[in-house]
Amino acid sequence: MRGIDAAGVYLPHYRLERDEIEGAWGRSPHASLAVPAADEDALTMGVAAAESLFEGRDIERDSVDLVCFASTTPPVEEGMCAPRLGRALDLKRGVETAEHTQSTLAGAEALAHALDADGSALVVVADCPAGDPSDGWGAGAAAFLVTDDAAVGVSDRTWHADEYPGVRFRERGATAVDSLDITTDERAVVRESIANAVAGLDADGFDIAALHQPDGRMPGRVVRGLPGAPETEVGTVVNHVGDAGAATLPIGLARALAHARSDDSTLAGFFGGGGAGAAFAFEGSVPVSGLDDGDFPTGESISYASALRKRGVVTDEAVAGGGAQVSLPSWRRSLDQRYRLRAGRCPDCSTLVFPPEGACADCGSREAFEPVDLPRTGTVEAKTVVGQGGAPPEFAPLQRRGGPYGVAIVGFEADGHAALPAQLTDCDPESVAVGDEVRAVIRRIYVQEGVVRYGAKFVPR
Ligand SMILES: [Zn+2]
Repeated sequence: MRGIDAAGVYLPHYRLERDEIEGAWGRSPHASLAVPAADEDALTMGVAAAESLFEGRDIERDSVDLVCFASTTPPVEEGMCAPRLGRALDLKRGVETAEHTQSTLAGAEALAHALDADGSALVVVADCPAGDPSDGWGAGAAAFLVTDDAAVGVSDRTWHADEYPGVRFRERGATAVDSLDITTDERAVVRESIANAVAGLDADGFDIAALHQPDGRMPGRVVRGLPGAPETEVGTVVNHVGDAGAATLPIGLARALAHARSDDSTLAGFFGGGGAGAAFAFEGSVPVSGLDDGDFPTGESISYASALRKRGVVTDEAVAGGGAQVSLPSWRRSLDQRYRLRAGRCPDCSTLVFPPEGACADCGSREAFEPVDLPRTGTVEAKTVVGQGGAPPEFAPLQRRGGPYGVAIVGFEADGHAALPAQLTDCDPESVAVGDEVRAVIRRIYVQEGVVRYGAKFVPR
C-alpha cells in the first residue's frame, strides 16, 4: 500500500522550560518549548529533519521524484523553499517541487499531494511561528518519505471543508495568533471539523491518534467526539515542542507511528484555521530517526532572556563598513561546497582539494577535479572565538542574537585529508576543543542583498 516508508523529526537544540517562562510571566502553557537558534528558520529545520530521515538508511536521493515543503512561516514572503531544500539535500535537479502554506493544514495538504503522486515523494513540514514564548510558540520539523509498498500504509483519507470566520487566523504581517486564547466556540469548531472528516473515513476505529494540538488539552477534547477511544498521549507533543504551527501534528504523527505496533491503526486529525479538517488513516509502524527510544532528545535549557534573543530570525540590516561582498552568481557556484562539503580530487596525483577550484595545490595540474563529498563529521584542528565587535559586519546581526560564536578549521579524512574553515553553532564555543568531533548542519550564514545565504556550520557530536 502507498504510504510512509521512513520518517525523521528535528527539534532545535535549545529548550525553554516551564519554570523559566513562569518566572517571567507567571503562566506557561506547555512543559517546555523548543527554541530555534538565531541561525535557524523553517528551511534549515526542514533540511535537518530530512537529513535525519536519510541518515543511516539505504535511500537513493536520486530516487526522490517530488519534494513538498509545508510551513506557515516560510523564511521568504514570496518565492519557493522546495528548490533550496532539494539542492541542500542533493536531490536530483529534475525533482518536482511543491509548496504548501497559509494554515496549520499545510502538512496535510503536502501529505495528500505526495500520496497522489507517482514514485517516491519527500514531505517536509517545518515551522517556527514568531511570537512571545509566554504564548507557547515552539518550533520543529518532520519529514516523511512516501512510497508504494510502504511500511505504514495510508488506507483512507477524507476532508471536511466549511467556512468558520475568524477561527485561529493571523492577519498579514502579524506575528502570531494568541495561542492561549482559544475560546469555547473555537474549540467546538476544531472538534466539529475533525469529527466530520473522521466520520467520512472507511475505518472501524483506531488504536492511536495524533490530533490538532495548539495546546495539550485539545486532543483529549477532540477524541471524545470520535468513535472508539484511541490513545492520544504519544501523538500529543505540544508540551515538549511548543505550538509549532503546521509542524506540531506531523511531529506527533511521527512519534505515534514510531510507537505503534505493526498491526495498529493510527489516526491523524488535522485542522486548518478558517475551517477545514482532514483525517488520515494509517496502518503499521515505522522507525523514526531524530527520536531516542521514541522520545525527544533532551536539548539544552536556556534562560528566558536568552530565548528572546534567539527567537525570530536575522533580517537584512544595513551592513556598516561594507564587509565581504559575495555576488549571488559566485555564491551559487559554491552551493555544493556549502551544502554538501563537495571537495575535488586531482585526477593526476589524487590529492584532495577544498575548495575544488583553480590548480591542484600539490602538483599544479589544471585538469578538472573529480567531485568528492566529504563526510558530514570531521575533527576540530583549530578554533577561535569571535566576541562582540570582532565579527565581520555581515555576521554582526547574527552575533547580536546568538552571542559570541566559534570559528574552527575542521579536518576530514576521505582517502586523503581536507580541511575547511566554518562556524560552530548550538554550543558554547569556549567548550569546543581541538580534537573534538563535529557534525555538519545547514544554517543561515548571513543576509546580503536581501537574500539569506545558507551553508554548513558545525555542532559538537
Ligand atoms: Zn595534483
